[in-house]
Amino acid sequence: MVEILDKKSTGLVLVFTGEGKGKTTAALGTAVRAWGQGMKVLMMQFIKGSWPTGEQNAIKKLGSGFELRRVGDGFINFNDAEEMEKQKKMAREGLKIARLAITSGRYQMVVLDEINYAMSYGLIDKEEVLDIIDTKPPEMHLILTGRSAPEEILEKADMVTRMDNVKHHYSKGIPAQRGIEY
Ligand code: ATP
Ligand code: MG
Repeated sequence: MVEILDKKSTGLVLVFTGEGKGKTTAALGTAVRAWGQGMKVLMMQFIKGSWPTGEQNAIKKLGSGFELRRVGDGFINFNDAEEMEKQKKMAREGLKIARLAITSGRYQMVVLDEINYAMSYGLIDKEEVLDIIDTKPPEMHLILTGRSAPEEILEKADMVTRMDNVKHHYSKGIPAQRGIEY
């Protein structure tokens, strides 16, 4: 049980990974909870497309306490070497921005959405992410999401939840739904 009388803050590293749906939305839910506690939140979405999403509209309404930044675009063609290089460059730029934001001490919670996926597909170096975890402000919470989180990240995290794919409507041929997927 969480000791709610203990107001002392311990910065945690939370990981949402696995094949089932709910990783990004779990991170968003936690981030909204933190925002509701008056905490300053930054969410960076790696590999997200430029299309508008419900969370983008919602976060705008939350004001300056919740910032959302997008890095990279939605579609990666792993067979196209030139495209891969472009994606790598964007992801690495994004990670640089993330490091600066994290070490600035301006945020009490930072979410790196789809960062696990970016690591597992070799867009960014997991050593770099491990180093960011080691150098983050001790009281800041850091959330990492995405499938296939590397083992070293799971070991370093304070909490890991693996979403289990019991079933998903997509396999019945139902495409992405407004309000559920975006
Ligand atoms: P969400 O953003 O809904 O929390 P997620 O972050 O867990 O999902 P991602 O791995 O980021 O999922 O994949 C993004 C998209 O893929 C989502 O729109 C989601 O509905 C879909 N998706 C997730 N898991 C599955 C699955 N097991 N089968 C098919 N599609 C999936
Ligand atoms: Mg996701």
